[in-house]
Amino acid sequence: MEQILEAIQSGASGDDIANLPIPESYRAAFVKRDESDMFEGVDSWDKDPRKSLHVDDVATPELAPDECLIAVMASSINFNTVWTSIFEPLPTFGFLDRLARESEWAKRHSLPYHVVGSDASGVVLRIGSAVRNWKPGDRVTVQCNHVDGQDPTAHNDSMMANNQRIWGFETNFGGLADMSIVRANQLMPKPTHLSWEESAVNGLCSSTSYRMLVSDNGARMKQGDSVLIWGATGGIGGYAVQYVLNGGGRPIGVVSSPERAEILNRMGCEAVIDRKASNYQFWSDEHTQDESEWRRFGKDIRAVNNGEDVDIVFEHPGRSTMGASVFAAKRGGTIVTCAATSGYMVEFDNRHFWMKLKKLLSSHFANYTESWAANKLLCEGKIQPLLTDTYTLDQVGDASLAVHHNKAEGKLGVLCLSPAEGLGVDDPERRAEIGEDKITVFRG
Ligand code: NAP
Repeated sequence: MEQILEAIQSGASGDDIANLPIPESYRAAFVKRDESDMFEGVDSWDKDPRKSLHVDDVATPELAPDECLIAVMASSINFNTVWTSIFEPLPTFGFLDRLARESEWAKRHSLPYHVVGSDASGVVLRIGSAVRNWKPGDRVTVQCNHVDGQDPTAHNDSMMANNQRIWGFETNFGGLADMSIVRANQLMPKPTHLSWEESAVNGLCSSTSYRMLVSDNGARMKQGDSVLIWGATGGIGGYAVQYVLNGGGRPIGVVSSPERAEILNRMGCEAVIDRKASNYQFWSDEHTQDESEWRRFGKDIRAVNNGEDVDIVFEHPGRSTMGASVFAAKRGGTIVTCAATSGYMVEFDNRHFWMKLKKLLSSHFANYTESWAANKLLCEGKIQPLLTDTYTLDQVGDASLAVHHNKAEGKLGVLCLSPAEGLGVDDPERRAEIGEDKITVFRG
């Protein structure tokens, strides 16, 4: 791996990189199949990713014709790595076993370990015989939509494909490692003005928010729309705020501390609700929601939104907030959801939903076209990376715990092959043009 790193850092040519020997094993972060029940009986909150995530050498898999082997310079923590590491809602080995039944090549994925991670920036080392658009030496980022191009259901919106999967969550050989295997149609150009870790944190969260808000498959936000964004300094929420501002809308950001409110102000989001300070009690007990609390929330929203209800609600906390989200959307408004961090058995009052002709829209990651469009905005400096902190691969458990316990704002980067922060900026002039303050808005 040292030879590979040296070649990348010295700017070796694509031909030179193509001729480098590939090691038979590489360092990776993984969970173990025989530990899937290690947290049985433990409360969700107390399940500790530091116990289940291991960093050690694993065998380098053979490359299929439609795949690329990449050297991973940096990766990031997504909530799906938290889910895998606490084995909730179920161990991810079932996904790998199901994938393995699909083809000869897919069999490689069913192993006693699951290499996790659904983001990466790095350099192409090898390409399979059927790959056309990429070559060794290309500097890339990865989007995590893993799709079988031979499946007829994958050719309208590939998120609708019967066997659509998330790389590094529902497939093996993910991005939290020194090397990774990806399908050629997961690659995108790395933004030249960003470092490896800044480039690595966007793929999953930015593309998800793009589909939810901007795409025809999502809420189709218009200029002037007001959008309530839960977790507005979190991974997907922080990108959502930027898409709303870019698209001429008005974000109303919900966060849980004055420090997070301050970050939103720095980003240009003026309408902020501190949910902790307001102490909303949407659930009066485990089975009962309190409509008067929804009303109080609605009043607080109108107080910062020119007296109006919101056009769109960007929803992902799930059980704890869905009732309030459906209530808070305006007549004819849209609630778009992609997750359920606090619980997936959600409940809302259907009367407020149908009588006010609201729409509930489900969304999940993004197709290649949507991810590419989101990446283009990053390359153009119109969307900024949300990197707040950087960990080493050996600290992947600590980083996952911070995300699990809602201790982190924005995105946590993970240095894989990259030996330090700040490396990999290929176009410093462009970086200066876009502005250091803007690019590092979540770090300051
Ligand atoms: P994150 O970085 O941890 O941010 C989540 C934010 O949600 C937190 O910053 C927190 O903000 C807020 N939050 C947490 N619990 C809450 C609650 N009970 N009520 C209200 N707000 C709450 O996570 P993320 O990366 O943004 O991901 C969020 C969720 O989306 C996760 O469940 C993840 O698995 C899912 N996701 C789904 C997709 C998909 O394609 N379907 C893609 C990405 C993420 P405050 O405490 O400041 O309010």
